[in-house]
Amino acid sequence: MRSPPVSRRRFLGQLSAASALAFLPRTGRAQAVPSRKLGVVLVGLGRYATNQLAPALRVTEHCRLAGVVTGDAAKGARWAQEHGFPEGNVWHYDRMDRIAGRPDVDIVYVVTPPGLHAPHSIAAARAGKHLICEKPMANTVAECDAILAACAKAGVKHAIGYRLFWDPYHTELRRLAREGDFGPFMRLGGDRAFRINEWRWRVDKKLAGGGPLMDVGVYLIQGACMAKDGRAPVAVTATELPKTRPDLFKDTEETIRWSMEWADGALAEFSTSYQQNADWFRCEAPRGWMHFKSRAFGYVVAGPDTSRGPLDFGPPVNQQARQMDGFARHLLGLEPNPVPGEMGRRDLAIIEAIYASAAAGGTRVEVRA
Ligand code: NAD
Repeated sequence: MRSPPVSRRRFLGQLSAASALAFLPRTGRAQAVPSRKLGVVLVGLGRYATNQLAPALRVTEHCRLAGVVTGDAAKGARWAQEHGFPEGNVWHYDRMDRIAGRPDVDIVYVVTPPGLHAPHSIAAARAGKHLICEKPMANTVAECDAILAACAKAGVKHAIGYRLFWDPYHTELRRLAREGDFGPFMRLGGDRAFRINEWRWRVDKKLAGGGPLMDVGVYLIQGACMAKDGRAPVAVTATELPKTRPDLFKDTEETIRWSMEWADGALAEFSTSYQQNADWFRCEAPRGWMHFKSRAFGYVVAGPDTSRGPLDFGPPVNQQARQMDGFARHLLGLEPNPVPGEMGRRDLAIIEAIYASAAAGGTRVEVRA
């Protein structure tokens, strides 16, 4: 699943000669330390870009906001003023090709609705820029394949905005899964939900790809695959619950429950909904357990209880800043990328199996991740 770190030589080859000079190691240093920050362009200036990513880019060590892609030129100009990048670095969605050849842009971060992730990610790759794409990676596995093919053709690296890989409690979950302190996690449960009261792209199948499963259910799938040390489930069974507001949820689910099973017999029972609020996750192993009672998948995760006692790793971390710095360090050849596009594709394969099971009245569907 992990893609190897890009070799420094290959990465430098992808930068212009002038900007590459900034990365050459200084005498006496064991490791190259960038003397300029990597330029990130945000595509889509909605809530997540405005309230999380842009503020995070003010505290990143290896990245800075270098420009934006928006349908609103005046808004782009305000961002340029506020964040101190040239107004020439405001591009329209239809002209992302103009980012090509810009030496001050290294990474394009796609933060539009999922139905637009494929065209925007492919445009970023064609412009020759490394890609971060928000979750879910796209609407379908076929779209994920198209993104991966475009990145391969352009020789650019890719990552999904799975910020929880940089959260200390989720890192501990992955450590427990890897090192097996409690034995293998065999029983998993959780619920991730929030209430939607009005029309937004999240209830439009073309833009959202589906309902809460695509949007926040993917966190449960992520948590489960973390608890299973990166292994995907082999089969799923799902049931969509009756809609309480069919006028709002016309072609997407309002609530869905599903189970996932692994080759070693592990079983997960999850639900996700736009009907009420929920955010918990629990995993049990023969010799211990971990229980995120609330804010299991939040920007600030609440310290979970474990069979050894509660965990408290101190002040909250900035997940988004760590995530973007992590990708930058990957591009610099300093560390592996734990969240490549293939992981986003795997999660879409699981989601497609869940929808197929629900559509077939809850029959067991094998996952081809
Ligand atoms: P949002 O509605 O606040 O922003 C969406 C942006 O896309 C807006 O700037 C909008 O103008 C733009 N856009 C372009 N074309 C559009 C179209 N045809 N229809 C609608 N909007 C269009 O949404 P958001 O909450 O910022 O979510 C954006 C992406 O970020 C989604 O993929 C979402 O899943 C993801 N997200 C991730 C996290 C996380 O924790 N990783 C949190 C929130 C959202």
